[in-house]
Amino acid sequence: MTAELKKLQEIVDQAKNIVFFGGAGVSTESGIPDFRSVDGLYSQSYKYPPETILSHEFFMDNTEEFYRFYRNKMLCPDARPNKAHIKLAELEAAGKLKAVITQNIDGLHQMAGSKNVLELHGSVLRNYCMKCHQFYDVETIAEGEEVPKCSCGGTIKPDVVLYGEGLDSDVMNQSVSAIAKADVLIIGGTSLAVYPAAGLINYYRGNHLVLINKSSTPMDDVANLAIDGKIGEVLGAIKL
Ligand code: NAD
Repeated sequence: MTAELKKLQEIVDQAKNIVFFGGAGVSTESGIPDFRSVDGLYSQSYKYPPETILSHEFFMDNTEEFYRFYRNKMLCPDARPNKAHIKLAELEAAGKLKAVITQNIDGLHQMAGSKNVLELHGSVLRNYCMKCHQFYDVETIAEGEEVPKCSCGGTIKPDVVLYGEGLDSDVMNQSVSAIAKADVLIIGGTSLAVYPAAGLINYYRGNHLVLINKSSTPMDDVANLAIDGKIGEVLGAIKL
């Protein structure tokens, strides 16, 4: 075991209230590309950058093109939880971890068994008619090549927060409260580039800030323990 993993194990052993804050990097080992890695969505050439396609304005003005990208790149029906999702669910079941705060929209934390998951950016698993608010599951969205329409004629929109849209205030408040009470904050698989989500970590008041990421982030100098590695391997090595 490396010195870093040993230190992480000691922190986890002593912790009573761990909160995990994560992003797209948590799901890359499940085969879902992130945005900013070398093989992430930003590195692939599209007519528009992902931030443009995944914006409210683009959804409203180019719904067909939005759905082409969204079905192709954001829906990953075969993805399964990896060692990171699984260990976080086990830490919660053991009473050590109190909340997972995620910027991801893939539902993999819940699939792994996590109960208290605060989804800052919504979920691809929930979809609503913009006119009558009828709920639709992800299978309805995934099938076909047209813009998905409700039986009332309205356009169905995924319950994900697009660029230019506000975050749910209940989810934000619960996240602030969880982070403010945490004795250990583990941040992983996020470039910490997307606001206001990334700003949440400023509410942390505990003694152990742990960062697990494959590349540098703006918090590297502030963290008590920064581990440069794959999050599935790092979290997977923790013993309960
Ligand atoms: P990002 O792409 O900006 O950053 C991901 C970070 O994770 C990078 O710093 C990368 O080096 C690191 N990383 C990648 N794989 C890793 C691994 N196996 N172990 C450790 N680190 C790893 O992603 P972000 O910070 O989450 O922000 C992008 C936005 O994109 C978010 O708002 C999110 O909602 C959305 N998004 C979600 C998904 C998903 O739901 N799975 C996928 C792509 C994008």
